Amino acid sequence: MNIQEIRDQFPILKQQVNGHPLVYLDSSATSQKPYAVIEALRDYYTNYNSNVHRGAHTLGSLATDAYENARDKVKSFIHARESAEIVFTRGTTASLNLVAQCYVREFLKEGDEILITLMEHHSNLIPWQQAANKTGATLRYIPIQPDGTIRLEDVEEAITSKTKFVSITHVSNVMGTIHPVKQIAAIAHRHGAVICVDAAQSAPHLQLDVQDLDCDFMAISGHKMAGPTGIGVLYGKKALLEQMTPYEYGGEMIDHVDLYESTWKELPWKFEGGTPNIAGAIGLGAAIDFLQQIGLPNIRQHENHLVNYALEQLSLIEEISIYGPRKPELRSGLVTFNVSDVHPHDLATVLDSEGIAIRAGHHCCQPLMRWLNVSSTARASFYLYNTEEDIDALVKGLKRAISYFK
Ligand code: PLP
Repeated sequence: MNIQEIRDQFPILKQQVNGHPLVYLDSSATSQKPYAVIEALRDYYTNYNSNVHRGAHTLGSLATDAYENARDKVKSFIHARESAEIVFTRGTTASLNLVAQCYVREFLKEGDEILITLMEHHSNLIPWQQAANKTGATLRYIPIQPDGTIRLEDVEEAITSKTKFVSITHVSNVMGTIHPVKQIAAIAHRHGAVICVDAAQSAPHLQLDVQDLDCDFMAISGHKMAGPTGIGVLYGKKALLEQMTPYEYGGEMIDHVDLYESTWKELPWKFEGGTPNIAGAIGLGAAIDFLQQIGLPNIRQHENHLVNYALEQLSLIEEISIYGPRKPELRSGLVTFNVSDVHPHDLATVLDSEGIAIRAGHHCCQPLMRWLNVSSTARASFYLYNTEEDIDALVKGLKRAISYFK
């Protein structure tokens, strides 16, 4: 990978922030966008902006073709069997809520169990909490290890014949852990449970194959993988999606409407009520092309190198405690840490004054923060455009912040 050539594709990286070159280390919150994606949005709005699936005019056909072509790109990107299994949503949160509403609330009942971990992002926790409250099902938690890994024997122990639904993050947005979702899916299926994978933090970095993982549902956000905001994906196995009744009703998703009864379109359109985020889907298609040209394995290798370098450098600073596993193969491209006696928000503010953007807070993982016995942490997250120099700038900035607060 020629990183300079890649960086040149991201206009935002050329700017100065607070008088310093931008060092963007917050891609887990949202990634930056390459010209190819920005240009795809501009092209749609400039040349063929039109609604999809209705106009019998040229622009309408162009927009529909581009929108459906983006769906095909997502299908190939995650190796789904059919495009009918790809539902466009607003993002991971919307995808998980769709599953909670249309699957868990419909098919689970009192006495059933839902299994998750306390490492989940709130978006992969609250929908199941609410669905459990509504259905009378019980929400249970797989124990986690101090380094943020999950042991398969703990999954075996936590799962019972009552477990009907398992949802797990592929990559933790705090610990950075890559979880063995393929093995967890196999355990879930052996017990007759359905498994959903929160792939918000894995889709941007790892080559995904839903058939190989054998997950039943998968949720993805476009904005974390170089695509626009407001677009995401719910993958679902066709047999499951077919059983599910939609929950957003209106235009676009209907087949026949009568005064008292109506029927729905086929998959995936029955879940896409209202005018969709057409530009967003087209932009996501462009992001997929961009990532595939570079190659997900190359991106992963680059991030692995960065994360190892960051771990090495940060470990040399006595005041820093690092969370998550040490083995690089268990880790995605982020490092979460705390500096003794310095609040992460203060740290982030000092770094920002030097143009370095990191994330500070609870990362939408309050139960995990309580388990770690902290109120918040700092997180530096990397993507294909980051360099060793970015990490050097972070380390320098951290050292300065530590001496400032001493
Ligand atoms: N799940 C994980 C692991 C995340 O990191 C995030 C976002 O940070 C989400 C879910 C929610 O994604 P979105 O806000 O794009 O819906």
